[in-house]
Amino acid sequence: MTEKIHIAGLSRAELEELAAGFGEPKYRATQVFKAVHERRLRSFDEITDLPKKFRARLEESAIISRLNVESKYVSTDGTRRYLMKTTDGNPVETVFIPSEGRDTICFSSQSGCPLKCDFCLTAKLGLLRNLTVGEIVEQIIIVLNDVYGVGVETPHGTNLVGMGAGEPFLNFENLISALRIMADEDGLFIVPNRVTVSTAGIVPRIYDLANIEDRPHMAISLSSASDELRDRLMPINKRWNLGELMSAAKEFEASLRRGERFTFEYVMLGGVNDSDRDANDLAGLLERYQLRRVKVNLIPHNGAEQLDYSTSSEERVARFKAVLESRGVSAYVRSPRGRDIYAACGQLAAKDSPSLVQIVA
Ligand code: SAH
Repeated sequence: MTEKIHIAGLSRAELEELAAGFGEPKYRATQVFKAVHERRLRSFDEITDLPKKFRARLEESAIISRLNVESKYVSTDGTRRYLMKTTDGNPVETVFIPSEGRDTICFSSQSGCPLKCDFCLTAKLGLLRNLTVGEIVEQIIIVLNDVYGVGVETPHGTNLVGMGAGEPFLNFENLISALRIMADEDGLFIVPNRVTVSTAGIVPRIYDLANIEDRPHMAISLSSASDELRDRLMPINKRWNLGELMSAAKEFEASLRRGERFTFEYVMLGGVNDSDRDANDLAGLLERYQLRRVKVNLIPHNGAEQLDYSTSSEERVARFKAVLESRGVSAYVRSPRGRDIYAACGQLAAKDSPSLVQIVA
């Protein structure tokens, strides 16, 4: 038997083709698209406005869901972490981060991650596999249903960040296809302007993204302005060094829309990359490449037993930020969310520990 088609990953055009194959008109495809993405229904049975015969044929050849929620953890700060599994048993993690008037869903693009960033727990998993288009889209459907209820319209301020497990730019085509499906106004209707994807520095894809008209915002994980240190912290730097990365960033800057900026993320590691000198080196690097339409997000390191780093003190982070600002660089501190349930940046490692308070199994 051939594998069933995962409906959540089909574009409108692909759905129309599928419907046409069953001798159904175009508007039937729109009905299915709306049922899956706008009403977020989870089985063909529930799409009662479709003819029975068409439903039966869909049932035979296609499937709506290929992700199962294994556990869900809720932090004291309201952050929720979902540990899901693909039908072939690979872990997928998604995080919901509530905040006044603007909730954020952080999705994963790969199961595990092939990059070996020394300070990140996901790196310890290695790459299990790329997620399919449908598996990316479905993460968001599942979270929206859990938080707001099935069929409730996506709240207007909902943001997406491609900052979960994996390197999105190593699964670039699926990422872009998934974002296009999610932007559709007959579906989730989360437009690219509400989406940010983060890369550790896959240089060719930065150039590619710059050329995509309906692209999301971009963040680059930098974490050091010195090649020597960055080689150690983020080995991807040995493939594309800071010079190559900054040249790509410069080109990306030229493609920004009116009023848009892009972000450099900088994980603050106590005593490693957080001195005044490090801050000055970072400001110097941005000056050398005349990067002006950028902001720096400082991320205090989130610890875990297997990681040999400590986080910078609050005073150190504040001082680092002040040095950047004194050199004309906008800098923000990302406050950690969901640390207690292993939901914060760099903590996604399919952790399913009994010591965590599990809400739903
Ligand atoms: N692979 C992509 C997407 C992951 S985004 C990337 O590297 O950009 C996750 C962000 O969290 C990255 O900026 C990463 O540098 C940061 N990060 C990783 N481990 C961390 C940790 N333990 N504490 C804080 N931030 C971490």
